Amino acid sequence: YYPDTHAVSYTTLSRFPPVKLLSPSVRKRVLVTGGAGFVGSHLIDRLMLLGHEVTVLDNFFTGSKTTVNHWVGHPNFELVRHDVIEPFMIECDQIYHLACPASPPHYQIDEVKTLKTSFMGTLNMLELAKRNKARFLITSTSEVYGDPEVHPQYEDYWGHVNPIGPRACYDEGKRVAETLTYGFQHRDGVDVRVARIFNTYGPRMNPADGRVVSNFIVQALRGEDITVYGDGTQTRSFQYIHDLIDGLIALMNSNETRPVNIGNGDEFTIGDFAELVREIVEKVQRDDGVTSSRQVEIVYRPIPTDDPKRRRPDTTRAKETLNWQPRWSVRMGVEEMVRYFKAKLAEGSV
Ligand code: NAD
Ligand code: UDP
Repeated sequence: YYPDTHAVSYTTLSRFPPVKLLSPSVRKRVLVTGGAGFVGSHLIDRLMLLGHEVTVLDNFFTGSKTTVNHWVGHPNFELVRHDVIEPFMIECDQIYHLACPASPPHYQIDEVKTLKTSFMGTLNMLELAKRNKARFLITSTSEVYGDPEVHPQYEDYWGHVNPIGPRACYDEGKRVAETLTYGFQHRDGVDVRVARIFNTYGPRMNPADGRVVSNFIVQALRGEDITVYGDGTQTRSFQYIHDLIDGLIALMNSNETRPVNIGNGDEFTIGDFAELVREIVEKVQRDDGVTSSRQVEIVYRPIPTDDPKRRRPDTTRAKETLNWQPRWSVRMGVEEMVRYFKAKLAEGSV
């Protein structure tokens, strides 16, 4: 998954991790929108270590400067506060367009703004790609399949989305963003890549993000009850962040212009997942010699409207065209994330 093998050496600046020193013909000027968010910050780390010049655009709605702080001041790195619904000019070779809130409670705060971010933000970044003849990758989502009637979901399935429900601003926003992306490909010859990402988790998720993995881990670590929405029979398939970053970089550097699912095929009911998180948190606490006075309970809360009942990616295309497949089991990934959140809780930053 590491296409830049032409590195001649590493540069070391005292404050920063060593980054590859690439020859100018290989080094790319990369723009990452939404780069201060959960996925974006991990992508930035990888692109920086690979030796590219990276510019982040973010309005810090759900992201934070702290996620990329460790690169501020590096000569290959620039962080710009900017809302993608406004045009932006820069010279670049590749654009990873991530900017968009991804958690239901966040994208539902202002549905119109979420739609503007998806449509106008993508329009502005596609105009920029066209002007620069840059390659453009959009992070779309499994939500384009809605509450799917086909299982597992493969890329040629058209989806089953309620266009006026509470999730519509995100689902339809991403669907129109994909349409726009292929419109620029057909009309203007823009070189496009479309990643359909399935539920992804890992360190640096905002603990107040509201998505299931961070909610369950933070609740269990605090000794609070784990809140399962509905009866817990709905399913999701969980991917660890490092696998996603491998997949995004492989897709950007491939010749695949069709949409590609990037996700882990391990499917859990949310009820079973709650039990797994509880068990892993108990194990980590035991390993660390922590005893707790009461067992964390699993409690049930109303299911949100239009919550998809089943979700699992068919990743045949990613395997065949990118030679990509996930390497992190859910157990390994959740344990890493538990340790991360535990350390953050201990230092009081969560
Ligand atoms: P996130 O909320 O942590 O990150 C989104 C980033 O975009 C934040 O830094 C936010 O401040 C920024 N942003 C939002 N609106 C903006 C605007 N108008 N202008 C500039 N910046 C803006 O979410 P994430 O999980 O890191 O998701 C990143 C991308 O991946 C999103 O496009 C999301 O739709 C997609 N995705 C993520 C998942 C997942 O499970 N994490 C699944 C499917 C798709
Ligand atoms: N969920 C839950 N408890 C929580 C948060 C979420 O049971 O505290 C459920 C939610 O209803 C959904 C699943 O977990 O069925 C995944 O939710 P998330 O918001 O993480 O992602 P999405 O619904 O967008 O896949």
